[in-house]
Amino acid sequence: MDDTPPISRREFVATSTVAAATIGVSATAEATPAESLAIQGGKKAVTEVVPAWERWGEPEAERLDDLLKQSSLFYWNGPQTKAFIERFQQHCPSTHVQTCSSGTAALHIAVAAANIAPGDEVITSPITDIGTVIGVLFQQAVPVFADVEPDTYNLDPDDVARKITPRTKAIIPVHLAGNPCDMKRLMALAEEHNLVVIEDCAQAWGARYRGKPVGTMGHACCFSMMNSKHVTTGDGGVVASSDGELGRLLQRFGDKGTDRVDRTPVQWLASNYRMSEAQAAIGAAQLERLEAIAARRNQLGRLLTQGIRGLPGITPHREDETDRSTYWFYMFRIQPDKFRVDRAQLVKAMRAEGTGASEGYIRRPLYGEQMFQDHSFFAGEWPIHEAGLTKMNYRDVHCSEAEAALQTGIRLRLTENMTDKYVEQLAAGIRKVVDHYAA
Ligand SMILES: *Cc1c(COP(=O)(O)O)cnc(C)c1O
Repeated sequence: MDDTPPISRREFVATSTVAAATIGVSATAEATPAESLAIQGGKKAVTEVVPAWERWGEPEAERLDDLLKQSSLFYWNGPQTKAFIERFQQHCPSTHVQTCSSGTAALHIAVAAANIAPGDEVITSPITDIGTVIGVLFQQAVPVFADVEPDTYNLDPDDVARKITPRTKAIIPVHLAGNPCDMKRLMALAEEHNLVVIEDCAQAWGARYRGKPVGTMGHACCFSMMNSKHVTTGDGGVVASSDGELGRLLQRFGDKGTDRVDRTPVQWLASNYRMSEAQAAIGAAQLERLEAIAARRNQLGRLLTQGIRGLPGITPHREDETDRSTYWFYMFRIQPDKFRVDRAQLVKAMRAEGTGASEGYIRRPLYGEQMFQDHSFFAGEWPIHEAGLTKMNYRDVHCSEAEAALQTGIRLRLTENMTDKYVEQLAAGIRKVVDHYAA
């Protein structure tokens, strides 16, 4: 087979010419130097140099200058936090906004503020950052995993409906890779069953569902500002809500149960998830960049889809025409039986073309992680299970579409500094490899 080991272009042309001559056909297509795979010594499809990724600069420096003139770096009544919250509200209109230390913290605050009790069930996606479920587990609630749609890898509302029980209290839709979930159907289910909806928007800064900013449809929304997200404070997060009851509690659950407005007694256990003024200063400047980042990433994602649409054996990352996905990453899927080699080999060949492709996203669905398989969350134990508040056994959980998506997905990085030409070349690199290895 001509895919192992890599050989030089000259050798390749020579061998294929000889082979073709032997069986009496012309060697044109395979032997054209431009068409031979980079992994076999051919020319790389991606030659365009990506301009430097400037993530921070003057706007952040100005804010930090101001910060150093302040007498306090504490968030409460801090001018940086105030500016950050105002800008956040321009992107995601919400009446209550609490800055916090991470996306994980934002989610924990939201779950706690939603009054989710020990043994309550929270339905979410198995394809997400583990931070989605950490707060659920700390509140002694039960993450229930529903399957995903085959081409968005977002919660499948039909399977969510099947997973609803009398114990279900909430749904956490994850707008994976910045692609909005089917909020219309999820909100309808929530209304019908009186469930709280907490949108995990960690990967979805600037995304829109049917024109509406993600985070404004559920009862609460959570964003992350960790380093790899669209906008960042190195680490950080935001949790917001326009629901009076839930929203009112966000500050307390982010700040040790202390109500800094009314000074009411501490009523529940809450952690310290505060964000400092220094982070908020950077965050406020970052939010000025958000609209441009979101718009550009959407363009690039759509361009990539155009470039690989219709390729045999390939399913592009589906985005609804009327939405705005902000492509935190791009993941297409392969149909393995349409290729002569496995995904690992396809990815290797795509990488050799300069595409930076990688296999799947997380290694296994969340329920496949050891702490779920062993139910070993708290020093090897799971108190709510031992107390009879849940019968959940994660060893019996299987979301077949999620598992298949992780096994057949090929992921590409998209960042706003990439040029159109670069992304066109990414698509060309994928096409080249797909053509070559088509069964
Ligand atoms: C990043 C991320 C989180 C957690 O955010 P941190 O700031 O890393 O705690 C949660 N959910 C999703 C979908 C994420 O991508």
